[in-house]
Parts: sequence; C-alpha cells; structure tokens
Amino acid sequence: MNKPNVILLTIDTLRADWVGCYGHQPSLTPNLDKLAARGIRFAQAITGGSWTQAAFPVIITSSYASMYGGCLGALAQERPSPLAILGENGYRTAAFSTSPLLSKTYGYHRDFHEFVDLIPQEKDPKIRYMKGGQRLLRTPLFHQMAKMLGIRTRPAKIYDTATDLNTQVRQWIDRADKPFFVWAHYMDVHWPYHLEDTLTAPENIAQAWRDLAHMHASNWNQQLISPEQRRHYIQLYEDALRYTDTEIGKLFDYLEKSGRFEDTVIIVVADHGEEFLDHGRWGHFENNLHDEILRVPLLMQVPGVQDAQVVTRQVRTLDLAPTILNLCGYAAPDGVEGESLTPLWTGQPDTYKSNVSVSEMLRDDWHIVAVRTEEFKFIWDSRQSDNPRLYDLQEDPGEANNIAAQYPAIVKRLLAYVEERRRRMDETMPDEATGEPNLDAELLNRLRGLGYVE
Ligand SMILES: [Zn+2]
Repeated sequence: MNKPNVILLTIDTLRADWVGCYGHQPSLTPNLDKLAARGIRFAQAITGGSWTQAAFPVIITSSYASMYGGCLGALAQERPSPLAILGENGYRTAAFSTSPLLSKTYGYHRDFHEFVDLIPQEKDPKIRYMKGGQRLLRTPLFHQMAKMLGIRTRPAKIYDTATDLNTQVRQWIDRADKPFFVWAHYMDVHWPYHLEDTLTAPENIAQAWRDLAHMHASNWNQQLISPEQRRHYIQLYEDALRYTDTEIGKLFDYLEKSGRFEDTVIIVVADHGEEFLDHGRWGHFENNLHDEILRVPLLMQVPGVQDAQVVTRQVRTLDLAPTILNLCGYAAPDGVEGESLTPLWTGQPDTYKSNVSVSEMLRDDWHIVAVRTEEFKFIWDSRQSDNPRLYDLQEDPGEANNIAAQYPAIVKRLLAYVEERRRRMDETMPDEATGEPNLDAELLNRLRGLGYVE
C-alpha cells in the first residue's frame, strides 16, 4: 500500500456554526468550504473536552480527559500513543504549536520526531505597569504621540500567527521525506482575536486595550457585555477566522503547486467552540458543555474520495487518531478508546458502533460530564449531582429547557455512561499523580493573556 502523507490542522476555539460549509452566511471560510466540497464533512462532530487541556488528550491520544490522572498536567506516560506508531513505521513526523497549553511543558512532544513551540518574543509596553498607565493606553492620542516617536504601544502578541506557523510547516514539508505526518495548531481565533495588522491605527490600539480590560472584568468580575460589545467581539472573531481561512488556503495552494495535494490526507478540526453569550457568558468557560462549545467543524480530504460527502452521523474527536492510523494502514494500539471513522464513507456505516459521545470538564475534584446522542444531551455535574440536566436536541437545540424530571428512563440510561467514566477515571489513576507542571513567568503571562489565569 502506498502510504499517504497526513496533515492535521487544528484550529483553537472554532465553533462549527461559524464555518461557511456548516451554514454560516455569508461564508467567512471559502477555503475550508472548498476542502469540504472535495472531501468529507462531518456534520455532527463532538469534541471530548470543553477547553484545550481537556480536548487535546482526546484528539491526540484517543483517551478521555479524566483518565490517567486527568488533563491539567503533562500528558501522562500511561496514556496511549497512537500517533507515535506512524513515526515508528517509516513516517517522518512533526508538530508545530502556537498554544502554550500544547507545548513541550505539557508533554505534547512525546509522539513526534520534531516538536516546535512557537513562542512570540514580545513584552507589553512598560507603561502598562505604571500608575495611570492603563488609562493612557486606552487613549488614542497617547498612541498617536507614541507613533510619532516610533514606539510600539500595542499589546504584546501572546501567540504566533497563522502566517508564521505556516511558514515553518512549509519549510518542514519541503525537507521531509515521504511519507510524512505533520500537525499544526492555529490560535488566531482564540481570544483576544486581535490581528496584528489591524493594530497600527491609534484608535484601534486604544480599542484593543479597552477590549482586554473589559473582557478581563467580564471573565473574573462578571462585568456585563452589551449588545454593542457583543457585535464588536464577534466582528473581531470573524476577522480572525477570515484571516485563518486565507492562510490555510495558502497552505493548500502550496501543497497543490508542489504536487503533494492529491496524495495527502488533510484533516481540519477544532478543539472546542466559543460561547457568544449563548448561555450567559463569553468565551469557553470550562463548565459550559453546551453545543456552542462541543460541536466542532471536522473536514477531511482523503485520497481516492473525490466528491463532497456529508456524514450526518454523530462522530467524536476521540475517533481521529484511530482514523488516521487506519488510513495509513495500521491498527490502533491497546488503550485507544475511539473507533476509525472510515466505514462511514466506504459504505459500511454499521461497522462504526458509537452512538454516544462523552465530553468532560475536570479540574481538581470538580467533574462535569456531557453525554450526547443525536437526540439528547445529558449533563451531570459533580457539584450538583442530584440535579442532572437533560435537553432534547431536536426540539431545543439551544439547550434552554431542562427536561430531566420528565424522562427518568433516559436519564438513567445516559447516567450509566457517566458512571462508566467515573469508574475508569478511578481505575486509570496513576499511583503518582502528575500535577500541573511548574510554569515559568513567561508561560504564565501568556496563559493570563489568553484568559486562563486571573
Ligand atoms: Zn482550545
């Protein structure tokens, strides 16, 4: 068998319903739409975790976030390493990450020959930390004066851009022997959504500082977000999405020009979505397991699959690693929880067994589990375990009405999946827990900028 190249592109914080081929009008994502039109679009792809740390063990290791000591520390030794099988069997493998949470610090390098942490080397202007500095930074006149003096006053970048990321990916592919597997992670649609190119006009820079202060107050002090502010943030999100799509389009052009497009498996997926006040908050608060967070875009180009196919069955990001192995001709190793998705487009849909998706939030002893079928979403919260929630996804896609009390039999059936996860969580707990790694000041600063640390 001729081994295909594999490119896995993960986009942080991209909710499915903001992508053109998932119905967003007008489309902001012509290049992702084109990929869908020549490959496979999964209409109901569900992530296994509500934020990066819970979502990625599921994508990369095909095991649940709550297993092997949880998801706050570095990837546990005990977690399966399905993707390492490629590197052990003649593939050249690499990963490029712009997220501090997907870094060597968190153990994500373990399954790849090469792992590159892209880290922007910028610091905020000193005035930010001076008395009255914050107020000055929110004043356009200040930036106008600084501009005349040639001083940079925009906020420091907290992640590298898609442009920088793709440059490195292309250079690596140029050098790589065939077959290769490369994973690239994009952060541009993650808060603060600010595109560097837009931060040159004094008014825009001042607005960016106002946004940062406002969202911090909203995150940590419940400051309200007005309809006007909501529109403004969505505009920024959409600009960042348009930019990300354009850059991914350039990567596709490069693959095409270098003759690699046709024999390459290309997978695009998001780790989780983003809430735009759908349930009263902004961002991806870990305890939100509603569909604006759990439903993610998942697109695949597979050599030999020519026409647009839409898979309507519910699938899981848990299934991605075994699918990649399957497409490359390898069996999934022990411990992998997902199933290959290939039967869903090769005319054997019954071979794919899963009809339930489990997504989690786990922080210390707080555990929330969402069990989703195509009809229902069941949410169990360890802090309110006697008050589970059940939503009818057909009748109530916005998940506004808890109908748990009316359907005790369904609650009981779906609760069994929660109990199974709780049991496996205990069984797979390592003797020595891997706590959160020691974070240096630079990394903490980036996490603060992303909204994860107060
Ligand atoms: Zn994320």
